[in-house]
Amino acid sequence: MQKNYIKKHIAATLKNKHYWITFCSTFVVAFIAMLIIFNNTEVNASVSPTDMPIENIENEIYSEDFSEPDNDFIADDEFWSDNQVIEPTPDEETRENTIVLESGDTLLNILTNLGMQYSDANNIFLATKKVYDPRNLKAGQELQISMQWNIPENKLISINSISTEIQKGERVIVEKIDNDNYLAKIEKDELIQELNSATGIINGNLSNAMSSQNVPASIIANFINIFSYSVDFRRDIKKGDQFEIIYENYITPNGEIIKNGEVIFASLTLGKNKIELYRFEDNNGNADYYDKKGFAMKKTLSRKPMSFQNARISSPFGRRFHPIYKQYKIHWGIDYAAPKNTLIYAAGDGVVQVAKYNGGYGNYIKIRHNSEYSTAYGHMQKFAKGIRPGVRVKQGQVIGYVGSTGRSTGPHLHYEVIHNGKRVNPLKVKASASENLRGKNLETFKKQVAKIDSTYQKMLAQNNAHTNDKLASLNDNNHSSNIN
Ligand SMILES: [Zn+2]
Repeated sequence: MQKNYIKKHIAATLKNKHYWITFCSTFVVAFIAMLIIFNNTEVNASVSPTDMPIENIENEIYSEDFSEPDNDFIADDEFWSDNQVIEPTPDEETRENTIVLESGDTLLNILTNLGMQYSDANNIFLATKKVYDPRNLKAGQELQISMQWNIPENKLISINSISTEIQKGERVIVEKIDNDNYLAKIEKDELIQELNSATGIINGNLSNAMSSQNVPASIIANFINIFSYSVDFRRDIKKGDQFEIIYENYITPNGEIIKNGEVIFASLTLGKNKIELYRFEDNNGNADYYDKKGFAMKKTLSRKPMSFQNARISSPFGRRFHPIYKQYKIHWGIDYAAPKNTLIYAAGDGVVQVAKYNGGYGNYIKIRHNSEYSTAYGHMQKFAKGIRPGVRVKQGQVIGYVGSTGRSTGPHLHYEVIHNGKRVNPLKVKASASENLRGKNLETFKKQVAKIDSTYQKMLAQNNAHTNDKLASLNDNNHSSNIN
């Protein structure tokens, strides 16, 4: 019964004309849709990413992380966000850390503490050592470390780079090239030369007057050295005397002073007497200081060849009561009392003749300056590096350090001037002029002087403008400024 009923029903349906029209048109629509799907790529692209096999998704993530960003990549990106698919969390990231070294830290222990294998850390150590010894790293120094970090496991994968400043404007950078290889290099900021000027009234001490105008200590020492052949800073400088200076600085592009350059112009007004000196380097590279007319600075043997210009004479030249022998003896030099390790300068250009321990003189140096003059220095703590017989020294060059070696009761410099084989009073040695500028050198020098003078006028004008702006500092007579 049942079977018969179904057969009859199907037969009736197939005979129904309405049914056939519906069936055929459905088939045609489906066929057209299939044609569109197979021929049109745009329809293909609309397949939802959630329908993609997992392997495909992973490939997409991979290409996002590592391929170059090009147009295809951007299209992909838009595609993902249009469809509001949340990206799976990446399992690694780049981390930038700054580590401040503490006392006892080494590059190796910092890297191994971060989780690096000792052999990898040692590769970095060895690469660094080619340009900079990592053992010179000091407490307080900062290391910028870029590394790959495994997020789920919370551990280090690898170090990308390390950078640290080894001195102002200079860094050592270590970069990973491939798995086991690192390359270290030194990177330096390009330095800009900056010209500075300062003027001031000396109310007591020249160094204080200059440093209150922000003149760096090494430039002050240089300035004093330039005049030390003709000025006794202890006796000659009076209240109200004046200094002027133009000097160079080398700065980084962001304005940090890296090092001091030369003193270009130095002037001292002592009472009514103004001494102006200009630096000039001749064709042979010899630099010296000359007055406006190109006359060489009166160069004589320094009366007090040491960095401590306030050193007092603890024992003068001549007959005196000897503190050790307890009797009157001739003192063949001048004793300058000064702190241990005060720098001792060569009193003039010359050649070291003697540098040795010499009985009562203790550590002793003798320099021959010319056919007439020699100088000698006793009781030194030690000699400067490289000072030995036969070495040529420049006036003002450090040759040793104040001490109390030999027959001595306390740290001082025993200083002798020997003229034609006889020891004479260093304070009574007359000035001897060195060569004045002539010919082409003089021409070049005069142009240079004109240039320095006009620069200086500009600087002074700037100083004055600056001073006028600051009404509060009206009674301040001192200025300093700089021009790039
Ligand atoms: Zn002495």
